[in-house]
Amino acid sequence: MSKVWVLGAGQLGAMMRHAATPLNVEVVPVDFNQSQSVELADDDVVTAEIELWPETNATKVLSKHPHFINREVFPRLADRFTQKQLLDELQIATAPWQLVDSDTQSQALYQALGETVLLKRRTGGYDGRGQYWLKQPEGTEVPEGWHQEAIAEQKIPFDEEVSLVGARDKEGNLYFYPLALNLHVNGILMASIAPLERLSGVQAEAEEMLGKLLTSLEYVGVMAMECFRVGEHLMVNELAPRVHNSGHWTQSGTSISQFESHIRAVAGLPMSKAVVKGQSVMINLIGVERNDDWLAVEGAELYWYGKEVRVGRKVGHINLTLNDSQQLNSSLNQLASSFPEPYPEVFSWVADNLK
Ligand code: ATP
Ligand code: MG
Ligand code: MG
Repeated sequence: MSKVWVLGAGQLGAMMRHAATPLNVEVVPVDFNQSQSVELADDDVVTAEIELWPETNATKVLSKHPHFINREVFPRLADRFTQKQLLDELQIATAPWQLVDSDTQSQALYQALGETVLLKRRTGGYDGRGQYWLKQPEGTEVPEGWHQEAIAEQKIPFDEEVSLVGARDKEGNLYFYPLALNLHVNGILMASIAPLERLSGVQAEAEEMLGKLLTSLEYVGVMAMECFRVGEHLMVNELAPRVHNSGHWTQSGTSISQFESHIRAVAGLPMSKAVVKGQSVMINLIGVERNDDWLAVEGAELYWYGKEVRVGRKVGHINLTLNDSQQLNSSLNQLASSFPEPYPEVFSWVADNLK
């Protein structure tokens, strides 16, 4: 059977390999800087766990393979400028924006977008890195080094942040998971809850938006769409042409995780709608030491990535899927007691939103 090669050897590639094991599909994550040569067979396929990569010996070989799935999509979505153009072209609601060109002055941005404007670097930003707030009352100017490198967005006074993970197979069939409610602290995803009954009212709108994108791009595999909920409607914040952190809950919470869906789609295997198993909560482990006591908590499933712990770094996540809300609350309370700052805030957000 053909192999699935993954550009990148981080936790996402590792979880794809893990998900593909029961199917006996061999998934091979490749580190960009791998010195060992990679030798692909003609019928192998290539995918990626990230949207942007440096040109190295390994990435050159992988990205030139004729079965590199979604090859054209990566550069288009990796640049926020072309990503925003695509959303506008498809008339999908997104925060109003402007390109920060070589001579763009903050005054023009305030005039077009309002008195608080968020600059986002066109490429490479993640976890809120690569953002800069411009505030008219404080007279903030576009900083040096941001011209031609950023877009500017209107500040959206959103009610909450949600995301949709969807997949398209080679025949063009679409599959969606329920929306997840996400909490970000300082730009980093800390927790997701899915499904949530009160989000069912915007599920159809979300599926229409992502469906339009997947179809128009002739995309194959899993894509994630981060949105702001503003009243009864959604606005797209950003797109990720890959499996996504806010979809990790599908590992314990559904019959087919986002990782398995992605592998099935790119490998051309049959797909089906994932069955939701219960109420799920995903807690991201950001800069915290591993604590094996977590393993003693009923329903808790630990994914520890084996990375060195550093402040602000994603080093793992915990999924909990339970149908008994009392048990879910008690497991969350038990977990909460072993976490440092800022986690008390995270666990209380989870408790408030599960009510
Ligand atoms: P990720 O790690 O999700 O890839 P990122 O660095 O690419 O993050 P965004 O998702 O664009 O950045 O923004 C990070 C967070 O900043 C959002 O989740 C949201 O909380 C806030 N944010 C982004 N854009 C806006 C906006 N236009 N108005 C208000 N808040 C925003
Ligand atoms: Mg991003
Ligand atoms: Mg984001």
